[in-house]
Amino acid sequence: MTPILYIVIPCYNEQAVLPITAPQFLKKLQDLTAAGKISDKSRVLFVNDGSRDETWNIICDLARQDEHYIGISQSRNRGHQNAVLAGLMEAKDSCDITISIDCDGQDDLNAMDAMIDCYAEGYDVVYGVRSSRETDTFFKRFTAQSFYKLLSAMGAEVVYNHADYRLMSARVLREFADFREVNLFLRGLVPLVGFRSTTVSYSRAERIAGESHYPLKKMLALAVDGITSLSVKPLRLITGFGAFVAVISFIGCLWALITAICGKAVPGWASTTCIVCFVSGVQLLGLGIIGEYIGKIYLETKQRPRYIISERTGDMQKTE
Ligand code: UDP
Ligand code: MG
Repeated sequence: MTPILYIVIPCYNEQAVLPITAPQFLKKLQDLTAAGKISDKSRVLFVNDGSRDETWNIICDLARQDEHYIGISQSRNRGHQNAVLAGLMEAKDSCDITISIDCDGQDDLNAMDAMIDCYAEGYDVVYGVRSSRETDTFFKRFTAQSFYKLLSAMGAEVVYNHADYRLMSARVLREFADFREVNLFLRGLVPLVGFRSTTVSYSRAERIAGESHYPLKKMLALAVDGITSLSVKPLRLITGFGAFVAVISFIGCLWALITAICGKAVPGWASTTCIVCFVSGVQLLGLGIIGEYIGKIYLETKQRPRYIISERTGDMQKTE
């Protein structure tokens, strides 16, 4: 039996690209169906992440035009990761496999063939990995690479150069549904679910239209989320650093004592100020990192829903 595929696509203010890329997704779905790789019950599932432009209306129009397009809308903007999760959870009971992909046409759709072949060979998770970043600007390339390096240095297990272009089977998604964390970092969580996984590489193109919603600020926020939700290494680093500073301070004290005993005490204003500044800096840094984790615990204990779906294209058709 051929598997049912749901392509899950988060969209936030994407009115400029959606009319261009949506037919490409549909074409891919039709080609895969014609090649006998997937069932005709497969769908292109758009997740509108509280867009403020025409995105949701475009999705509704698409759903009217072709039954292979379906859409859900989040009640407000909750961010890329939550939008992908909402789509995956919506899809998991209706399909055998999902592929999540961005809607801006940057990820090569042809990699889907290889992903589905891997699924047929028995892999439950297939990560799309970028083979080159030539089309990205130097700044984007540099920040993105530092992002992966920082994550792995901090003990968060991620697949290098893999964003959220990924095949996951419904079996994995059902297990994944039990991962209840509110602080979502899908790239780091999926490897924790386990199952057989592999990678497929593809080259990444430029955004077709519109602009990136991942400026440096959001990327840094994602990195902090990734690290603090997957690893406690920063807390250990603080302890280690604290111990190091304590040893240095001890030596400093000995030195001060000896010079004082020898009657060579320096006036000492500069050195005292330096030490005070340094130690208070270290303390504030330590408190900040600990605060970040406490903030995470606070959010997790609230157990708020991770996404709220306010509309579905299916409902719309029923009421019409
Ligand atoms: N996106 C989203 N919610 C947001 C920001 C982005 O659903 O708050 C979607 C966006 O529509 C796109 C994907 O996430 O499909 C990736 O965003 P973008 O292309 O702006 O990021 P980049 O590729 O530059 O990292
Ligand atoms: Mg993009």
